[in-house]
Amino acid sequence: MDLRFTPEEIAFRDEVRAFMREHVPDKISRKIVEGRRLAKSDLIDWQRILNKKGWAVPHWPQACGGTGWSSVKLYIFRDEMQQAPAPEPLPFGVNMVGPVIIAFGNEAQKKQFLPRIANLDDWWCQGFSEPGSGSDLASLKTSAKRDGNTYVVNGQKTWTTLAQYADWIFCLVRTDPAAKKQEGISFLLVDMKTPGITVRPIQTIDGGREVNEVFFDDVRVPAENLVGQENKGWDYAKFLLSNERTGIARIGISKARLRRLKELAALEQADGTPLIEDQAFRRKIAAIEVELKALEMTQLRVVAADRRGNNGKPDPASSILKIKGSELQQAITELLLEVVGPYALPEQRAGDDSEGWNEPPVGPEWAETLAPNYFNMRKVSIYGGTNEIQKNIIAKAILGL
Ligand SMILES: Cc1cc2nc3c(=O)[nH]c(=O)nc-3n(C[C@H](O)[C@H](O)[C@H](O)COP(=O)(O)OP(=O)(O)OC[C@H]3O[C@@H](n4cnc5c(N)ncnc54)[C@H](O)[C@@H]3O)c2cc1C
Repeated sequence: MDLRFTPEEIAFRDEVRAFMREHVPDKISRKIVEGRRLAKSDLIDWQRILNKKGWAVPHWPQACGGTGWSSVKLYIFRDEMQQAPAPEPLPFGVNMVGPVIIAFGNEAQKKQFLPRIANLDDWWCQGFSEPGSGSDLASLKTSAKRDGNTYVVNGQKTWTTLAQYADWIFCLVRTDPAAKKQEGISFLLVDMKTPGITVRPIQTIDGGREVNEVFFDDVRVPAENLVGQENKGWDYAKFLLSNERTGIARIGISKARLRRLKELAALEQADGTPLIEDQAFRRKIAAIEVELKALEMTQLRVVAADRRGNNGKPDPASSILKIKGSELQQAITELLLEVVGPYALPEQRAGDDSEGWNEPPVGPEWAETLAPNYFNMRKVSIYGGTNEIQKNIIAKAILGL
């Protein structure tokens, strides 16, 4: 199997790299490098830069604004964007509901929503998970009862990422409680301004507000917001979830973070010499670099298989990418903590009234994001299908167990 890029692909990579160098706003890039949270406006600004260039939704069909790039070019584009580093476009519109509307929506829905997704005029969030229905998603209980030209929605979603910013939410709802659990689910688009919707924040362990609970109390949704056919929502959800795993290995991001790790290790001293020169520490970096290279090879094999045609089906090997990619992202944040040791502890940096007997060590300013990042990265082995669920997929689809 030839995993090398063709001369044309190398020229394309150079073009994307040059575009990123020129157009990713410095302020945004710095925030990503330093591990600071991006503002809503950062994501919108970046999406509009991409849209102006015609690269907002490269994976969509050309008739809907896509670029017609091969899977290899899409891989190169994502990798360069992650390495720049530039923000990853908000996935809920461009990777999730957009492709579902393209594949299963009607013409009116395509006209109303697709251009607004590409330009991030509408901020979408994903209303799938519920308390008790995460891995076992098909057990979801949020109900939608037909009443004339509307559905009346009642229930609760949870872990809804960035719902506080959202204009729209796409939901899986139960429309036939009597049917087998996968066969009574529908896919509904709901305007977040509809009366009866309450968004309640969940504070994450890093102190952030990234996820929410969303409650529905007699929320009336026009029946025209149903995607596809009633009770066929599970098929559309499976299609969406297979897209969710695209680019999940986040190799470009890990490469950018490793670069940052080396820069910081060169600044920190251990026994009078920069940490980056410490043999034991270098071995740890090398171990991660070797694993990252192996992961990149696996990713390229998946892309190459796609180039040869996979009948449009997601490759179950992408579950391996999810597991290994998330483990490496976590390992890098662990090593970043080692660079600064006690300076990373957020509690010690906050002023307290201990009157001098517990003076906090004052570390460099850049150290203050490292512990929150470490905690935040615990999420990557949970969302998008937990790593245990990915192992089940590998056991069944690859090992035939
Ligand atoms: C940061 C973050 C953002 C998220 N954003 C969204 C969002 O925007 N929208 C949305 O709908 N959801 C979102 N989720 C929810 C996510 O999809 C679920 O958390 C995930 O599917 C796991 O479901 P659960 O939390 O109910 O855990 P559970 O399914 O209850 O799992 C608990 C534990 O049991 C294990 N387990 C469960 N079943 C099996 C099995 N069959 N075999 C082996 N082990 C098993 C799991 O691996 C896990 O370790 C988000 C989650 C996180 C952490």
